[in-house]
Amino acid sequence: MGDTAFEPVRAFAEELDQTDPLAVYRKEFYLKEGVIYLDGNSLGLLSKRAEQTLEEVLDAWREYGIDGWMSGKHPWFTLSEKLGAMTAPLVGAYPEEVVVTGSTTVNLHQLTATFYRPEGKRTKILADALTFPSDIYALQSQVRLHGLDPAEHLIQVDSRDGRTLAEEDIIDAMTEEVALILLPSVLYRSGQLLDMKRLTEEARRRGIVIGFDLCHSIGAIPHQLHDWGVDFAVWCNYKYLNSGPGGPGGLYVHEKHFGRLPGLAGWFGSQKDVQFDMEHRFTPSAAAGAYQIGTPHVLSTAPLIGSLEMFADAGIDRIREKSLRLTRYLMQLVEHELEGMGFSLGNPLEDHRRGGHVCLEHPEAVRICKSLKKHGVVPDFRAPHVIRLAPVALYTSYTEVWEAMQILKQIMKTKDYEKHPKVREVIA
Ligand SMILES: *Cc1c(COP(=O)(O)O)cnc(C)c1O
Repeated sequence: MGDTAFEPVRAFAEELDQTDPLAVYRKEFYLKEGVIYLDGNSLGLLSKRAEQTLEEVLDAWREYGIDGWMSGKHPWFTLSEKLGAMTAPLVGAYPEEVVVTGSTTVNLHQLTATFYRPEGKRTKILADALTFPSDIYALQSQVRLHGLDPAEHLIQVDSRDGRTLAEEDIIDAMTEEVALILLPSVLYRSGQLLDMKRLTEEARRRGIVIGFDLCHSIGAIPHQLHDWGVDFAVWCNYKYLNSGPGGPGGLYVHEKHFGRLPGLAGWFGSQKDVQFDMEHRFTPSAAAGAYQIGTPHVLSTAPLIGSLEMFADAGIDRIREKSLRLTRYLMQLVEHELEGMGFSLGNPLEDHRRGGHVCLEHPEAVRICKSLKKHGVVPDFRAPHVIRLAPVALYTSYTEVWEAMQILKQIMKTKDYEKHPKVREVIA
């Protein structure tokens, strides 16, 4: 464990909790008695601060009606930009380079529509074979909108082991035919963290626009998007950033692209002071705000205000440090407590290649997940055989990780999982 040597006893976990500088944040979340929540990489939990800012925005609606756009504690007209500025330290960007809007998929459509300009020999988009389906659907339709065939113009770099991607393979695929690259920061199944700095350098050397999907790294890992020279990025805020189900996502555009016309224009992308002039000539914002489309979803944005305040207090470097310790500890317990039970770790073991969750593989994953849930542990199943376990720095304790692994061991020993049907739920 870096400074403390691993010991397979509960007291070891309790000691880690006692000296954990982030332990204070746990009491700010709504945790359920008797439930160990390890699914914060799919949907983060509600915090009291997020609940409070949602209530403040409701109060403003009650109090001001239409005037809430410019009045109250969080005026709605500039809320998306304000939250962009609050997100900027988490992605390593200038405040004007970030805005909270849309969703991951919508923002990907927007930025692909903006930056994908097939011309001459450069007509292809480069992505990967392990990416989240929605990202691929968006890229396929963007290729089609240009009258091109995705089978030919969307390249998906293969995985050698079915779990991870080799940076060398991605770089080899950066040919003169590639116009745009989209990659995940952290792969949603295996939790592999890609070397974004290196990939961006290689793309820039070849004059290819590069963007990243940060869904599984935002709020878990620090980024330096601006300094690396990343062209654009998209993400959702309801995973590690705990903004609530369906809360709007975010996007980043490097300032060198400011002034470019958005591929999908709408009035909320206007320069603020002229938006209500109602001219038919579009005057886009000079910053990332230009990529907004319509009226912001104010009520579903509101919890993010309180949540981001908490991230500013806690600090993303401390969050990353604890997250790495939690996942390292979880992996040590897997090796020590679950040996010979058919589990294997599908995530990279090195700290610099690992995101915020552990990818546990087992042929019986679907039934094991059901049994875990019945016993008060909330995992995340990904077909056909992946159990994702995300101990979250702001609200998961080391003792919970210990307990979860004891419960898992018990389930395996008693074969409790065999009592459950071998089919996944609709939401898995
Ligand atoms: C969660 C996730 C999404 C979800 O996109 P929405 O538009 O918010 O539904 C997309 N891509 C990745 C990689 C994700 O992890």
